[in-house]
Formats: sequence, structure tokens, C-alpha cells
Amino acid sequence: MTSAVATPPAGPSAATTFAADIGGTWVRLRSGGADAPVERLRSPSRLNHPDRSVEDLREDMAELLCRAAPPGARTAISFGAAIDHLTGMVYGSAPLWGSEASPYELGGELRRRRPDVDWVLVNDVTAGLLDFAATSARSGTRRIGYLTISSGIAMRVADLDRTRIAVDEWGLQGEIGHLPAMAGPGSRLVGLPCACGAPDHLASIASGPGIANVARRLGVPEAMAAEEWLPRALGVRDPEAVRLLELCVEPIAHMIRTLWCLDPHLDLLGLGGGVVEGLGIHYFTELRRQLAEPTSYADRGRSETWLDDRLVFCAPGQVDALRGAERLGGWASGIMP
Ligand SMILES: [Zn+2]
Repeated sequence: MTSAVATPPAGPSAATTFAADIGGTWVRLRSGGADAPVERLRSPSRLNHPDRSVEDLREDMAELLCRAAPPGARTAISFGAAIDHLTGMVYGSAPLWGSEASPYELGGELRRRRPDVDWVLVNDVTAGLLDFAATSARSGTRRIGYLTISSGIAMRVADLDRTRIAVDEWGLQGEIGHLPAMAGPGSRLVGLPCACGAPDHLASIASGPGIANVARRLGVPEAMAAEEWLPRALGVRDPEAVRLLELCVEPIAHMIRTLWCLDPHLDLLGLGGGVVEGLGIHYFTELRRQLAEPTSYADRGRSETWLDDRLVFCAPGQVDALRGAERLGGWASGIMP
């Protein structure tokens, strides 16, 4: 069948008149759809204003959005945070509010201040997935995922047949970066810290900071500047760099194998984010190499053609959360427990 993204509910919605993409550094706003100009402002975040209290930063955020939304607008806000998709409750965001652990009812606050506006808030990975789905889903794609590997790691899966994005009772899906990494007990990588404060998470090894952790653990002299050193070193097949990449890709390959094992109708998976974009062809080649290898009789390895058909490496700019928010349309009612 033709995928749901080709039908009106999931396409750029004429009814969405105000969209925003909220990140730790920038806020991008657009009224009136994809052809209108984008307004870019410095984000009222901990990153930009380290001296301001979290309470004040939250107040600034609510004020900014309420000031920008046109009267009676239908909004779609992409938010770089762990967020309850059902209520707009924000559980946490290190770039915006540092280590503040108390949840914030941003959705409720916006509705109280501007009841004339229809406020819908989604996580930026969800918005990314909607943009990826709209541009990359093919006829017959049943389920589609988007995995982002940058300073953090998260993914979302959507059911195109039913226009659904399933969430749990906390309104979450796919916050995989803080799951325990699948490293064996004898692994050299045991005990590496995650940005959330706990050790041995997927992000402790496979995120941008995770790669630096592993480089330090391996004693790579360039570990402090791994981000700049690694792509160059991989370009000349430096053995230390090749080993580092192999170790950091490994838990991602494990996770994708598990995903395909549990969800055989996941027909297409997009990969994006700073780590994937920064390492480009090197990341792509190593991940495909690992996924091609058989690991058991139940995981028989995958051919080049099979991988070509199901994995998409997204180039910088290919997936845009602001555009994704504008594509929310009928998906909003399809985000459900
Ligand atoms: Zn963590």
C-alpha cells in the first residue's frame, strides 16, 4: 500500500500555522508553513545563560512561545528534551535546564497563558522521524524508525499503516541512550560514565562524549580532542582509530539487531545526528560491516542488498526537526499509549 506519509494527515498540514524547534542553542520559529521565513533566536537555555536560574529560564521559554504564537494558531513544537508527548510535561533537558530533575509542565503552562492556541509538543527525535518518514518512506514501508547519535542517543519508530507513534504511560518512546549498554562483564569498557550521572549506559560508549570516554579508556593520546582527531585518523586507517570506532559502533549494532529481531516489520531505519554526520562514510561502513556478520543461527547476517534496502544514512540537513514539526498534522492524534 501507499505509505501514510503520502496521505493528507501526515503531510505538511495546512492547519498548522505555527511551528517551533527548541534546542539548547537556538530556537527556530516559523508561522505559515514551509515557504515562510524562519526566525532564529538564541535559546533561553542554561547553555546560553549559565547564570540564570532554571525557574527564570522556564519562564523565559513560556513567554517566548506565547509571544510568538499567532492568535488562535495550531502549533507544533519540537522540543529537545525528554517529554511526555501526551501532556507536554518536560522530564529533563541538560542543554536547556542543566541537571534540574523536577519535571516541568510546559504544555500546561502554555495552555494556561494562551488558551486560544492549540499547543502540541513533541520531542525533536519524533519531529525528525516525521520529516524522515515524509521524505524517505516508500510504497509498502510498514514501520519506520529514526535513530539519532549525537551528544545523546534516542530513536523513534512510527507505524505508517496506522499513522501511530506508540508511547508508554509516561508519554515516552525510544529513550534508549540511558539503557544499560550491552557490554559483556569482561569488557574493557565497563564503568564508563554517562551524561546522566550513571555508568554503563549505551550513551556512555556510543554517543559523542561516549566515544571520548572509550578513547581515554584505550589510552588514545588524542582522546581529549577525539572529535577532530577521529575522522582524520580513520581517513588514513590508523589502527587505534579503527579499533575505537569498532568498539563504539558495537553496542549500536547490537541494539539494531535486537530491534530487527523484535520488530520484523521495521522496514526502514534512518540514522542521523552529529556523530553519524561527523564520521560519515567511516561510521556507515563500520556499522554495515558489523550488521552483515552472522552472530548466531537466529541472526544470520545481512547482505549488502538487504542493508541497502533498510538502512539510510542521513546527510547533514537531510532531516529537519522544524519541518518535521510542521508535518505533525494527523500524527498528533496518533501518538498514543
Ligand atoms: Zn545515562
